[in-house]
Amino acid sequence: MATPPTPKIALVTGGNRGIGYAACHQLADAGLHVILTSRDAANGDEAAHELRTSSRSISSYPLDVTQAASVDRLHEYVLGEYGRLDVLVNNAAVYLDEGVSVFDVGIDTLRQTMETNLYGPLYLCRAFVPDMRAQNYGRVVNVSSGAGALHDMGGYTAAYAISKTALNALTRIVAAEVRRYDIKVNSMCPGWVRTEMGGPGAPRTPDEGADTITWLAMLPSDGPSGGFFRDRKPIAW
Ligand code: NAP
Repeated sequence: MATPPTPKIALVTGGNRGIGYAACHQLADAGLHVILTSRDAANGDEAAHELRTSSRSISSYPLDVTQAASVDRLHEYVLGEYGRLDVLVNNAAVYLDEGVSVFDVGIDTLRQTMETNLYGPLYLCRAFVPDMRAQNYGRVVNVSSGAGALHDMGGYTAAYAISKTALNALTRIVAAEVRRYDIKVNSMCPGWVRTEMGGPGAPRTPDEGADTITWLAMLPSDGPSGGFFRDRKPIAW
C-alpha cells in the first residue's frame, strides 16, 4: 500500500515540556502535523501556541495516559478530526523513586510508575496500532531509558527501571504482532537530558534527546522494527 497522504499525522504524549516538547518541535519542522498531548489542557494549549508558526502545524489535546477513558476520548478525536494516525510517540513518564532502594520503594509508587510508564503506552498502542494495521502504515516510538536495560541493570530506582524494562518488552511484543505490516515499533533512550526529570546537571539538551525519536518516527519502509536505539544506533537490551 502507498504511504499515507501528507502531511503525516503524529501524536506525542507528554508534549508540554521536556523531551516531548522538543519532539513536537522537530516533527512539526519535518512537515508532520503534530497533535501535542498534555495531562493539563492549558499547559498543552500554551505549548502548542508557543510552537505554532506559519510553517509548523500543531494542535493540542488533553491526555492523561493513565486513564483509559482519556485515551478513548483522544482516539475518537483523532479519528474524527484527522481520520488516521501515522506516528505515535509514547514519551510521557514519571520518575518517582530516584535513589530509593528496592527494599523501601512503596507499592503505590511502583503502581503509579507502572500505570504511567507501561499501561499508558499499552493503552495508546491498543487504541491506535489496529488503525495503523488497517492502513498498513505506522511508526511507534516508545521513549524508554538505559535504566531499563537488563544487561547492565543497576541497583536502586526499581520502579522506574522495571517500568522501562517492561516498556521494552511491550515494544518487542507489539513489533512482533505487526511484523507483516509497514509498521515500525521501536524503543529508544534519549541519553541524560536537561529536563525536570533529568535535572540541570545533565549534559544533553532536549533537542539532542529528541533526535532519535524523530529519526525513528520517520523510518522508511525498510527500516528496523523491534529494536532499542540511542543516538540512532542499536543498543543492548
Ligand atoms: P519531564 O520533563 O519530567 O516530562 C515528563 C512529561 O510526562 C511531562 O509532559 C508530564 O506532564 C508527562 N506526564 C507524566 N505523567 C503523565 C500522565 N499521567 N499523563 C500524561 N502525561 C504525563 O521528562 P523528560 O525528561 O522530558 O522525559 C521524557 C521521556 O524521556 C520519559 O519517558 C523519560 O523516562 C525518558 N528519559 C528521560 C531521561 C532524562 O535524562 N531526562 C533519560 C532517559 C529517559 P506534566 O507536565 O503534566 O507533569
